[in-house]
Amino acid sequence: TQYIYNFGGGSADGRTDMRNLLGGKGANLAEMASLGLPVPPGFTITTEVCTAFYDNNRQYPEGLKDAVDKALERVESIVERKFGDAEKPLLVSVRSGARASMPGMMDTVLNLGLNKETVKGLAALAGDERFAYDSYRRFIQMYSNVVLQMDHHSFEEILDTYKDDRDYVLDTDLTAADWQAVIVKYEAAVQAELGKPFPQDVHEQLWGAIDAVFGSWMNDRSKTYRRLNAIPEDWGTAVNVQAMVFGNMGDTSATGVAFTRDPSTGENHYYGEFLVNAQGEDVVAGIRTPQNLTIAGRQRQGNEDPSLEEVMPETFKELTAIFQTLENHYRDMQDIEFTIQEGKLWMLQTRNGKRTAKAALKIAVDLAEEGKISEEEAVLRVNPAALDQLLHPSLDPKATRDLLTKGLPASPGAASGKVVFTADEAERLANDGQKVILVRTETSPEDIHGMHAAVGIVTARGGMTSHAAVVARGMGRPCVCGAAEVRIDKAGTAFTVSGRTVSAGDQITLDGATGEVFFGAVKTIEPELSGDFAKLMVWADKARRMKVRANAETPLDAKTARGFGAEGIGLCRTEHMFFDAERITVVRQMILARDATERKAALDKLLPFQRDDFRELFTVMRGLPVTVRLLDPPLHEFLPHTDKEIEEVAQGSGIAVDQLKARAKDLAEQNPMLGHRGCRLGVTFPEIYEMQVRAILEAACEVAAETGDAVVPEIMVPLVSMKKELAFLKSRIDAVATEVFADKGRILDYLVGTMVELPRAALIADEIAEEAAFFSFGTNDLTQTTYGLSRDDSGAFMPFYIREGLVETDPFVSLDPKGVGALVEIGAERGRQTRADIKLGICGEHGGDPASISICERIGLDYVSCSPYRVPIARLAAAQASL
Ligand code: ADP
Ligand code: MG
Ligand code: MG
Repeated sequence: TQYIYNFGGGSADGRTDMRNLLGGKGANLAEMASLGLPVPPGFTITTEVCTAFYDNNRQYPEGLKDAVDKALERVESIVERKFGDAEKPLLVSVRSGARASMPGMMDTVLNLGLNKETVKGLAALAGDERFAYDSYRRFIQMYSNVVLQMDHHSFEEILDTYKDDRDYVLDTDLTAADWQAVIVKYEAAVQAELGKPFPQDVHEQLWGAIDAVFGSWMNDRSKTYRRLNAIPEDWGTAVNVQAMVFGNMGDTSATGVAFTRDPSTGENHYYGEFLVNAQGEDVVAGIRTPQNLTIAGRQRQGNEDPSLEEVMPETFKELTAIFQTLENHYRDMQDIEFTIQEGKLWMLQTRNGKRTAKAALKIAVDLAEEGKISEEEAVLRVNPAALDQLLHPSLDPKATRDLLTKGLPASPGAASGKVVFTADEAERLANDGQKVILVRTETSPEDIHGMHAAVGIVTARGGMTSHAAVVARGMGRPCVCGAAEVRIDKAGTAFTVSGRTVSAGDQITLDGATGEVFFGAVKTIEPELSGDFAKLMVWADKARRMKVRANAETPLDAKTARGFGAEGIGLCRTEHMFFDAERITVVRQMILARDATERKAALDKLLPFQRDDFRELFTVMRGLPVTVRLLDPPLHEFLPHTDKEIEEVAQGSGIAVDQLKARAKDLAEQNPMLGHRGCRLGVTFPEIYEMQVRAILEAACEVAAETGDAVVPEIMVPLVSMKKELAFLKSRIDAVATEVFADKGRILDYLVGTMVELPRAALIADEIAEEAAFFSFGTNDLTQTTYGLSRDDSGAFMPFYIREGLVETDPFVSLDPKGVGALVEIGAERGRQTRADIKLGICGEHGGDPASISICERIGLDYVSCSPYRVPIARLAAAQASL
């Protein structure tokens, strides 16, 4: 096997696509050398050597040493210097380079090969003693820190004291003699701490550095980083050994970093910084303030210092020509490191540059319009999850802010408003035209109207999948959850946080993308949904196979969803329509009814409310399919809790308070999630579903009559686990339909189907499909029931599972491909066996998660459905999944 790949001197053994073997840095150095760009010659020791090293009890493979010697000779002959030579010494850098860039790995060692003898040779060659001793002291400092693991403070202290004693301010104030004196002190420090002198043998130095790179693969920092980023241990790192070039040889030398486009905005202008007479990481280290690359760049920043364009115009031209070459070659924005040695330009690194979501979008669209990449590639270049940041208002980066506390970033977007502590108060003030932020210890379904009325929500308890988080994401309300320091006082008039008190009516601002909560109003900026965003969406829609629908029940959410390109509603949860203040009492009367007559009386009052809701919703969605789920949640969610609530219900229904209390007690369940809910309610109280179906179909007929454009209602029965449940309900639904159509003198298309959300339903999907015209996989409940894991209680242990690496991601956030995904696949397959054209979709949180969407594409579902604000994300993710 080949352990070593050479580069530089006009050719290279490696290529960009060999990144697994050569690491990112090595592969790109080789590619640049092949392109004929000025790359200092060197070689890469492969990642396979790293793997072999660990497989073989930290022994290098036989022959590696000879191969390194040979590769070093090649470099020596190209640059006409010799490693360790007293007269013409070759110096090298030793650079780590894994496949994926990995903080925590060994830092680069520069100027390796210097010792008491070679430093003199370097001084003579350069005709500059100061430069040579400066380089040597840098080397001692870096090598001692990185390879010998000494604290760099020891050296900084020596240098600071030396400068203070002589009233020096800048490092450039030190002369050659000064550096020699500092070196003596550095060497003494090494001797004192390690009990042996700084290594003078250049081969010992080289192998020390190589050992340190390979050793750093298994240090704690690297291991942690790999675990958090799911990088396998057996990837290994490569080591790059490369001839040094010097940016610290006086005023015609410099070192810098650059991006071929602006990494924060995506603007097509060069963006970068450099330092004259400097080396390596001086630019990032912030010792001196770096200068801008371009005139335009320094003007943008109001920087007076001359740019590279002004200081070294010729080199600048050469450099920017290389920017173009590299960008055209890699067909992406590049992040570049370069050094200028006495006017000669050298390229030290290139890679696809990291960028903000905004920049990613702009760069992808621009590159496609410039004809450098195809529209499909542009679609693949933008991370759908990152779009989330772009679809919501964000805090003005220039605005001043006063941080109160931080919780979980539960639902993105930024909002300012007055603090309120109850849902009713939120609704009252919102109706008054005020902006409010609802602050709760936690939220429950009864708070939904208040969450809707608020511009943002903060909770003290609860995780990323808590009620507040799920509902807020669904509504597109910014939300910070689990802000654990927030304590709401008993009276509910104020909260305290880190010693400060915030009262009802005070202004606060939250940023749901970061989890931060601020005191006062912070200026926000609106998202830009036209332009690049719109263009990318058009390209995504061309590539996409699956349809994208939204989960929505209010006309407002439905409008938002249509605006974001939803092609129907995949889940309208009718119970959300029940929590409205005017109706909840009637709903409670219905639930607490002692017999069918009482129930019927309450249902008759509810029917017009429901019909009006559907009329509004169907008007917004006309021309598109709308899936309406019949009543689903456990009844306890609607039961009155307080005496006041019980009294209200008693008054409205004429039932005695005591009787009501007894009835509420009867209805209490041990395990409501697995109790009397879903179609089980429909089976035991058929009149509830009959009322809902009537409301749906009457509304559909009326909207069709008014607009001439009908929705196709898809009536969805929840929580089915047997064919007979669905058969029982379907015959009643069809009977109501016949009645309604006769009344209205109009026949409409409608479908009856079911939510597949119990493992048994997935397993006997072939039977259920005999009754169901469509399946919508309810993966929230399917995850709960497949894992036997309560979503509302998993917050107590799921974070530990994630931290300890037992699960990669919360299965409520990203669909579990092995278990839950398998059930979806089985359900889809068996459903199609019975009914080839059965409509298949997914609703619930997973429908807006890119990884889950790609599983849905693989299974061949017809559509995904997600909250309105995630519709663009789902459109992009679905497009990527089909490419
Ligand atoms: P990182 O991965 O932290 O960026 P690098 O290996 O890229 O580490 O090295 C950091 C910096 O060191 C480079 O940007 C460059 O300025 C300098 N450097 C590395 N190798 C050389 C070299 N052969 N000659 C001159 N400078 C070098
Ligand atoms: Mg570094
Ligand atoms: Mg680098």
